[in-house]
Amino acid sequence: MSEPLVGVRNLVKHFPITRGILFRRQIGAVQAVDGVSLEVERGETLGIVGETGCGKSTTARLIMRLLDPTSGEISFEGRDITRLRGGELKSVRREMQMIFQDPYSSLNPRKTIGSIIGEPFAIHGMHKDKAERKQVVQTLMETVGLNPEHYNRYPHEFSGGQRQRIGVARALALRPKLLIADEPVSALDVSIQAQVLNLLREMQDRFGLTLIFIAHDLSVVRHMCDRVAVMYLGKFVEVGPGDSLYGFPRHPYTGALLAAVPVADPAAHGSERRLLSGDVPSPAFPPAGCRFHTRCPKAQPLCSQKEPPLEDKGSGTRTACHFPLTREEVAATGVRSAL
Ligand code: SF4
Repeated sequence: MSEPLVGVRNLVKHFPITRGILFRRQIGAVQAVDGVSLEVERGETLGIVGETGCGKSTTARLIMRLLDPTSGEISFEGRDITRLRGGELKSVRREMQMIFQDPYSSLNPRKTIGSIIGEPFAIHGMHKDKAERKQVVQTLMETVGLNPEHYNRYPHEFSGGQRQRIGVARALALRPKLLIADEPVSALDVSIQAQVLNLLREMQDRFGLTLIFIAHDLSVVRHMCDRVAVMYLGKFVEVGPGDSLYGFPRHPYTGALLAAVPVADPAAHGSERRLLSGDVPSPAFPPAGCRFHTRCPKAQPLCSQKEPPLEDKGSGTRTACHFPLTREEVAATGVRSAL
């Protein structure tokens, strides 16, 4: 088997909490990402799913090296990039690009879309000839379904879906190998979400991209991803192929996320939707043992004492749970009828 495009081992990111104005003293840390490991194969789409604040966007930023990890290792094409700096980091960054959740705030309102999409060329000193750059940018615009004649327009002149297309065009400008889409459709109307998802899939096929797709909703990644990693309070709690994870989720948190997916006609599905109760605990003070035990309907005394390892439970996924869901429990939560 060829080596994975991305490898992450025991990745940790703690943000210090300090007190005092002159002599800032560290009094704690927000454990945003706490021991995450994963591999992403070339051409694969990996979904990372979890509630707001679970650490999925921080994981993405660490992989992109937009943040420095507290510890752990990140490799890209087999090369350790954890501590790269300067020119070496810049050249690796060409190979990985990101599109962001909010197409409204991620585009500079004072720049034309021609200069926004052409920005990566300016940063990397490519297509210096003005006419040539314009032509390349207009081709990119056409590729993502934008009218090239709108080259000199400003972001406010475009709809939300079109702005996300601008973001995709900018991300594709340098022909990256890895694209990380951080909640790319969350800020868009449902009616245009499908268009942007289809565009991403089309671009992936066309350019042979590897895609990491971040979402808070399991139903969004269902048709996009080969594998899914479910994240809770800075850790992966279940990772596996989409078919296994959606067909037979073993972790109670995955089960709850799936059961919470709205269905068109709940009465017709014959089972009660169980929504998660309680708030996610603060990542500054994560619960001992299994971090999900304060909200888990299956929690037992062992759960607050011992952290469960992420391991194969015989159903195709790796699951971090001492008492994984049974088929009967999955059926009772209405998971099957939700998708
Ligand atoms: Fe629930 Fe215990 Fe499993 Fe954690 S280890 S998910 S608390 S059953």
